[in-house]
Amino acid sequence: MPIFHPILVASLLLYFLPAFLARKRSDFTAIFVLNLVAGWTFIGWIIALVWALSSEQQRQVAVPAQPAAAPPPASGTSFFCSACGKACEAGARFCTSCGAALPATSR
Ligand SMILES: [Zn+2]
Repeated sequence: MPIFHPILVASLLLYFLPAFLARKRSDFTAIFVLNLVAGWTFIGWIIALVWALSSEQQRQVAVPAQPAAAPPPASGTSFFCSACGKACEAGARFCTSCGAALPATSR
């Protein structure tokens, strides 16, 4: 008579199904311990299974909300030249008043 009876093996596999499902989780140890300790109680096994199947919380780096940056000048509106201070046409590469090179704002 084999030591590991197929039904016994199947029962063990079923018993440790939650731990098996959680084998790649970061909290596998906790689930395995719960599975091992409380798995013989039906509710403990269910909790371990639900835990194993629950979506693991993503370790998201808390990114503070970016302060609303100044909106880029809309096309068609004018802005002021940093060299002479006069209004220039948006998108122009050179100031129309003094000819200073302007930072590209579009395209
Ligand atoms: Zn200018």
